[in-house]
Amino acid sequence: MIIIPNIRQSVKKTYFILCVKKNPNLIKTKNIKNALLKSGLKSNDNRLYTLFQKLDTCANEIYYDDFIKIISSAGLLVEKTLRGELALPDFSDFSKNIDEMFKEVAKNKSGELASYIPPLAKVDPDQFGISIVTVDGQVYQKGDFDVDFSLQSLCKPFNYCFVLEKLGLELVHKHVGQEPSGRQFNDLTLLTRSLKSNSEKKLTSIPYNPMINAGAIMTAGLINSNDNYENRLSFVKEQYGKLIGWSAKGKFDSKFPRFNKDVAREENFTGHNNLAIGYLLMATGNLPGKKTKLKKDIDNKKDGFDFYIEPAVTEALKLYFSICSLEMTSTEIATAAATLANNGVCPITQSRILNQKTVRDCLPVLQSSGMYDASGAFFQEVGLPAKSGVGGGVFLVIPQLMGICIFSPRLDEQGNSVRGIEMAKRITSKYLVHMFDGAMTNADRIDPRIPISRWRANSCGEAIWAASNGDIRTLERLASEQKDLSVGNSDMRTPLHLAAAEGQLEVVQFLIKQGVKPVPDRWGGYGYFDAKNNNHDKILKELDKLNIKFLQPIHLVEDPNGKTDEVANYDDELMVSELLFAAARNDITGIRQLIAKGVPVHAGNFDSRTALHLAAAEGNLETVKLLINYKHPINVRDRWKSTPLDEAKRENRISVYNFLKKLL
Ligand code: GLU
Repeated sequence: MIIIPNIRQSVKKTYFILCVKKNPNLIKTKNIKNALLKSGLKSNDNRLYTLFQKLDTCANEIYYDDFIKIISSAGLLVEKTLRGELALPDFSDFSKNIDEMFKEVAKNKSGELASYIPPLAKVDPDQFGISIVTVDGQVYQKGDFDVDFSLQSLCKPFNYCFVLEKLGLELVHKHVGQEPSGRQFNDLTLLTRSLKSNSEKKLTSIPYNPMINAGAIMTAGLINSNDNYENRLSFVKEQYGKLIGWSAKGKFDSKFPRFNKDVAREENFTGHNNLAIGYLLMATGNLPGKKTKLKKDIDNKKDGFDFYIEPAVTEALKLYFSICSLEMTSTEIATAAATLANNGVCPITQSRILNQKTVRDCLPVLQSSGMYDASGAFFQEVGLPAKSGVGGGVFLVIPQLMGICIFSPRLDEQGNSVRGIEMAKRITSKYLVHMFDGAMTNADRIDPRIPISRWRANSCGEAIWAASNGDIRTLERLASEQKDLSVGNSDMRTPLHLAAAEGQLEVVQFLIKQGVKPVPDRWGGYGYFDAKNNNHDKILKELDKLNIKFLQPIHLVEDPNGKTDEVANYDDELMVSELLFAAARNDITGIRQLIAKGVPVHAGNFDSRTALHLAAAEGNLETVKLLINYKHPINVRDRWKSTPLDEAKRENRISVYNFLKKLL
């Protein structure tokens, strides 16, 4: 564990290692900005407004004291970014993966536009956008992320939150239930509940939940029910504005949600089913704002009568249609979803918009009822609270991590965006974000909350170290946790290789009993040759029983008796493994952060492999240069006596080879 004496100190340490090139006292201001933008923070982020203004006006290079003064308006955020501790620490890797998914999903042209609301049938069906906003305000956006589209049912969970805030859980749920309906979104069936009044049992009918039309019309009816339509709509728009960070002293460039009155009007003309729902709710006696005319107001005409429409119904419907017709972009909705993910605090403004309890009460209902009559299957597969609307939007909430919004207007039979669903499925099949994923059991899936190099190190490190040290207890525990014991490190060295190399017979027997299959390492070699080189005959006999043709590794050692530099020992093996993975992945930021945390640049693992070996073997010239800059010795030798130069030669990494050769 690293103890941070104080923020100034740690920013200084991290930052200097991160950005300083030649003169250790001067920092390039453009590097500060780049580091923040590369991590997914946006230049229009309200929290960075003052900092970016100062950076744009100060000198190109500044001294440490000025640096501290300049970052003071956003010190904690800068600190978190530089230490790689934002919600998505590997923003660029994450973005790359989502880019690839986006490209694949864009090929899917199945589904139909919603046609029952005429303006929705006229939108460009090929539109496709995705936005992801983390609880730290990192923003990923792609495709049509800045296109306004109709909120439609995406408004339902937010409206539910607004009434929970004002009226409280108990009162709201006298009017609407929390149960999945299992029926279509516009179904007229209500849920029957028994009420106790004066020791007498009474039955009442309420909508199943606030995510289907009946419940959403009821919820709309509950929003400031004593006020007039204009004020009620303004109130709702203002709440959405706050959810998306609009209220940030006018500096953040998000706007109010736009109201599309043509869509609202068409909904009114075609929404006979919703009108029927409105009257049904009126009939239950549970619709608020009942304003039935009094006898004295009745105009007694001679012939016929004054036909009367109940205003409580029309007002609830008018507001409901209007809110459904608000328009926002996927980035704005993802920000609102991120506010839910962040327990009600808008990540961009850091203002609390909803109480924590409101969010906690809303998300379970969203999870069980947000995706129409496919909610159960969707939650089973994707495992996240989500809401979709017939305007083609879907948003997902990953609590404590991020909000996601996908917009693509072609819908499946249930009314969910086809590409939206496919993106959501791909995201949870790549990332461990399903609510019931629990402990990692499959090394191919990644926890996005952890830097990728650390994730890789964690997924193999403990087992490899336990195997090389003969620690059967740890291996038994890992096996009972269903961890994959055949995962290799950055050289594809597995627990079996290390157990064989270190003569750990019991471990070899244990692994084989667990069904672990021998696999080749970076050099094409199996643990068999590790045992052979070290004369572990009993292990050889054990492996012979497997009847496998073991191939011999091909190592290259040009000059075994040449100069040898020392490899550093560092007792946090996982951090060493992380450094090696970062070097193999050309992850410059990750390497800088690890060095800033105190890992020696030339730390070696159990095979005496160092970051320079890995960077050379993978041909990562940028990393090689960085390591040399940080004084990584050149003639370090691994278990087989190979130097980084040998590795570059063996793998035919010409530019790295030439670079290292010149330094000798
Ligand atoms: N305004 C739409 C309706 O009530 C919303 C439908 C939806 O997105 O599910 O029909």
